[in-house]
Parts: sequence; structure tokens; C-alpha cells
Amino acid sequence: MTHHQVLIIGSGFAGIGMAIRLREAGVEDVVILERAASLGGTWQANRYPGCACDVESVLYSFSFAPNPGWTRTFATQPEIEAHLIHLAATHRITDRIRFGEDVRSAHWDAAHARWEVRTSTATWTAETLILATGALSDPMRPDIVGLESFDGPMFHTAEWDPTVSLDGRRVGIIGTGASAIQVIPAIQPQVAQLVVAQRTPPWVMPRWDRAIPERTRQRFARWPWTQQLARLAQYLRHEVLFLPFRHATLRRVAEAVIGLHLRLQVRDPALRARLRPRYGIGCKRLLLSDDFYPAMTRPNVTLETAAIRRILPDGIEMADGTHHRLDVLLLATGFRPTDPPLAPAVVGAAGRSLAEVWAGSPRAHLGCSVAGFPNLFLLNGPNTGLGHSSVLLMFEAQFAQILGVLAARRARGARSVAPTEAAQARYVRWLDAAHRTTVWQSGGCASWYLDRTGRNSTLWPYGVGRYRRLLGRVRPEEYAFDA
Ligand code: NAP
Repeated sequence: MTHHQVLIIGSGFAGIGMAIRLREAGVEDVVILERAASLGGTWQANRYPGCACDVESVLYSFSFAPNPGWTRTFATQPEIEAHLIHLAATHRITDRIRFGEDVRSAHWDAAHARWEVRTSTATWTAETLILATGALSDPMRPDIVGLESFDGPMFHTAEWDPTVSLDGRRVGIIGTGASAIQVIPAIQPQVAQLVVAQRTPPWVMPRWDRAIPERTRQRFARWPWTQQLARLAQYLRHEVLFLPFRHATLRRVAEAVIGLHLRLQVRDPALRARLRPRYGIGCKRLLLSDDFYPAMTRPNVTLETAAIRRILPDGIEMADGTHHRLDVLLLATGFRPTDPPLAPAVVGAAGRSLAEVWAGSPRAHLGCSVAGFPNLFLLNGPNTGLGHSSVLLMFEAQFAQILGVLAARRARGARSVAPTEAAQARYVRWLDAAHRTTVWQSGGCASWYLDRTGRNSTLWPYGVGRYRRLLGRVRPEEYAFDA
């Protein structure tokens, strides 16, 4: 059994960033447990063709670790993964990561005021446990009749099999979410036929992705303030993009403007009608793409809007009886963010797990700690997701709050800290009230933003600035020390 001051689970942006911040604050004894064989979290797992970030690179990086070398306005997966690997190496974090450590359980040991964490290979203890396991880490396979009977290769976008060639094959893809609209244009030119099974058409706005010229990169390296200025401009643009999510009139304006993108890129009115969303913009994640609609107009692409009746060994059968023969089936069916996979395994002071306490609707004080779970912190926790900007900005606010709470614990000579029930309940009431007037609640769509109780337990209901201001200060009265 090895003991550490801090254990972090997960080596994506959240885990790496937290480790950097902790060490800068003088907490040296930090270890990251990672189930995969290499670091990167979602950027290590998702390797499908076309995989890229839909937030501009200049904003999708930490303010304390800018990267003047981004080659495109929207970085691709390989470039982001390489950036993270570089970030971990230059901040001496890589040698703090223990790979192949799949966490099975974590129990609060009140007698010793520490967490006991069991992994696939060992038992670890730590004063403080930080979950940086991501909201979108465990793929969701759809519950479709006959799915497992499919005879050919079938895999989820987050488990892409690079050994399967798609050249000249008949390929089916289920889903038209953020992952699908990146895969579709990337593979369309190489496949013989592509059948796209769409259940709900997404709102898609232009991305205007372009290469960043060498001279701009040199300028960013030489005068970092120029990159900071570009970052500020993007930050403000995204804060404006958020406004239609709260205000119905602005929403109608946004729908009219963004609807033009579909009109300009798809000339066939019948196809256009089937691609047109019928819910308020932003209710499901607003997508960005320059090449999804053009790909859908190609002769080797068939858009299927009938429901899927079943999967057969040789293809897919739609509710209207149409049968598509397929060689390969791709599942672009997303994740389960409202059922965090580790929640049943993390057991707090009262002997109950996070899953038991949450009962299908995750709640956390400021999104980063939970009453009854001493010395436990969450990154990317409940209600910290965004539909409009860089989640890394949210992580930075969480790093600040967590470091502040740890400092307050130290200053009091306390062994443990957790938010009080009252502070957490007050915060959650305020959140729920704030959500009532958002498009996610009233936009007329079914989305994974809402959990099975109908609560929005994934998204932050305001602009990023408000969250940063809220978490920028620790209010000790909201926490119980020696909880
Ligand atoms: P997603 O947005 O949840 O999309 C899943 C798709 O599969 C939807 O079109 C959904 O249809 C469809 N689907 C699910 N179950 C189905 C079923 N049983 N039958 C038919 N269709 C079914 O998942 P995702 O595209 O992987 O994206 C998830 C999130 O990952 C994104 O919202 C985003 O936050 C993140 N992401 C980000 C990027 C990026 O560029 N930064 C890229 C990829 C993903 P319905 O809409 O009808 O449910």
C-alpha cells in the first residue's frame, strides 16, 4: 500500500492541469492514476478520422500554458494529444502518472482521515482524492434489437479500430452528433456507400477552420500578448454566443442566421428539409462544421431518417422496411455523462456511494465537492459543462477553488474538509432556478444534458465569467472542516 498527499484519477486536461497547479502551489506528492496506457483522456481515447476540437485552439488550452505552435484554428486530435504529452513532460508530471491503473473502488477511511483506493493492481491511500475522470469517457452502445448479431466489424467512435479498412466498403453510421459530423466528411470520399442513420437533425454552424500561418505562430511565440489578445477575443465571442441559450428572442435571430448555413450548403429542398432541426438552437449541443452538409449531398451518401427497426447480420433494417446491406457499422452514439462510471465505486463518510447519494441526478457544491465526501474533489463535475465555450476555462476556476479549500484546511490544521449540506443545497436550488429559463429545459428536444429525473445536471447555466468569479474566492463558511 502506497500513501500520497494527493491522488488524481484521470490524466486528461483536467488531471494534468490540476497536477501542475498543485505542484506550483508546493504540493509535491501528487500521483495520477490512469487506466489507459498513455495520457490524454478523451484526446487519447478518441482517434476516429476527422477528430478535432470544436473550440478554437487558442481558447482550448490553459491560460498558464499557451501553445504558440497550433497549426490550425481548430486543432485536430493528434495535435491536441501531442500538446498534452508535451505539457505533462515540461511540467514534470509524466513521471507522476501510473498507467494501467483502473480504479475499482475508493472508500473514505474516517479513522485515518484518508481515502483508500483500490485499482486493478494495487491499493493506494491519500489525504485528498481528486476525480478527473471526465464527463464523456465511457462510450454508450445503443440499445437496438439485434446489434450484437452484426457480422462485420462494428465499433464506437471512441473505440475506433484503425486496422479496419473502410476503402470501397459499404459503411453505416448511427448518430449525427458532434463525433458523427466529424467522421462523416472524413470517410465519405473513401467508402463505396455511406448510410447515415439520423434520429434527430443537429443545428450546425460554420466552423471556418483554417491553417494558422507560420508568421502568426512566430508572432505568438515572440510576443505572447498577441496570442492572449486573440484568446480574449475568442473568449468574448463565445460569451456572446451563449446569450441565445437564455433569451428566446435572440434564439430566433440565431436560428435564422445559422439556418442560412444549411440553405447555402444544401441546394436540394427535400434533403434540406430532412436535415433541418425542429427544436430550439442550443437545446442539444450546437455543432460546428464546414464539410458535414457538403458530404451529405454526395451521391454515395444516403440519409436515413426512418427509425432503426433492427440490426441484421448483413446490415440495418429501418422501420419502413428498407434494408441496407453493410460491411462495417459505426456507432457514433455518444456517452453517458449523467451516470458517471466511478460514482458507484466512490463511498463517502456515511458508507454510501456517490451514485446512491445522487440517485440518478448528480449534485456538487460549485460543481467540485460533495457534502458527506471529505477531502474529495471533482473536476468537470455536475453542472460544469458548457454548450458554448472552452471547458478548460471551467477547469481553471475549479483548480483555484480546490487549491483555496486545501489551503484553508491547512491553515486550520484540519484533517478533512467537505462542503456543508446547507451550502450545497442552497447552491443547487439556485442552479435549478437558473436553469428554468434556458433552452435546455424549454427548447423541445431530448438531450443528454438532462438526467433521468429531468434535471439538468450537466451544464452551467450562465456565461463562463460568472463561474470564474464565483469560484475565484473560497467562502470558508460553506465548508465543514474536520468533516
Ligand atoms: P452525442 O452528441 O450524444 O450524439 C449521439 C448521436 O447518436 C445522436 O445523434 C443520437 O441521436 C444518436 N443516437 C444515440 N442512440 C441512438 C439510437 N439508439 N438510435 C439512433 N440514434 C441514436 O455523442 P457524440 O457525437 O459522441 O458527442 C458527445 C459529446 O462529445 C459532444 O456533445 C461534445 O461535448 C463532445 N465532442 C466534442 C467534440 C469536439 O469537437 N470538441 C467532438 C466530438 C464529441 P439523438 O440526437 O436523437 O439522441
